[in-house]
Amino acid sequence: MNNIVAIPAFKDNYIWAVHSLDGNQLVIVDPGIAQPVLDYLHFNNLTLHSILITHHHNDHSGGVLDLLKEYPQAQVYGPSNEKVSGVTNAMKEKDRISFTHFDLHLNVIDIPGHTLGHIAFFNESVLFCGDTLFSCGCGRVFEGTPAQMYNSLEKIKKIGKNTLVYCGHEYTLANIAFAEQVEPNNVALKKRHDEAKKLRQQNLPSLPVTLACEFETNPFLRCQEQTVIDAVENHYRVKMLDPVMVFAHLREWKNQFTL
Ligand code: ZN
Ligand code: FE
Repeated sequence: MNNIVAIPAFKDNYIWAVHSLDGNQLVIVDPGIAQPVLDYLHFNNLTLHSILITHHHNDHSGGVLDLLKEYPQAQVYGPSNEKVSGVTNAMKEKDRISFTHFDLHLNVIDIPGHTLGHIAFFNESVLFCGDTLFSCGCGRVFEGTPAQMYNSLEKIKKIGKNTLVYCGHEYTLANIAFAEQVEPNNVALKKRHDEAKKLRQQNLPSLPVTLACEFETNPFLRCQEQTVIDAVENHYRVKMLDPVMVFAHLREWKNQFTL
């Protein structure tokens, strides 16, 4: 398994850096800004092999052109349905990428909702999902509909329970505060809370996290669970007719939620 490191950027973004097996090259995910990546490359004497982009937002793609100035040979894989400057390989669902020196083989899926062309890169071990799934939360539905976002999360759920989630932001503790509002008696959530709190106190990322842990703790992946349905019905005093309706209300509740 490749060594994967979080390069912090801005206030709470992570630029994920995947090391090649020989340790000389990097594949990086969602560089919103170039400088922290350049610093990391220089300090560790590495070459930039490729860049993966999950969606067009600037905090995920703003560093591409500056990185290409120094590493013009780097391949840039990005969503085919969005405009991202510097993309050399437009990716769509079912496309596959093989990084031979990395023993890294990634599949592409469309996960619209946060943005309409949002994609994820995954295999059975790793998932790079940008701003769609967060630990104990999910991205805001900016361009798509709640139904699209719900379906994208359901697609992610099918990838596998041992898969490690590498998402775009450190939002875990804030997400847990909301999740505990929804499911105050969720034991797995309490455990994740303690674990994430300890990591953050040491200034370590709360990520990656397994999908299995997310299935037990993330309310947005639990729209079919009775506890979550009850919580949403109690909060809104409306009968929920299907999981998409649960998801839409949950997302709206979270939008209004302040600590
Ligand atoms: Zn975004
Ligand atoms: Fe973002």
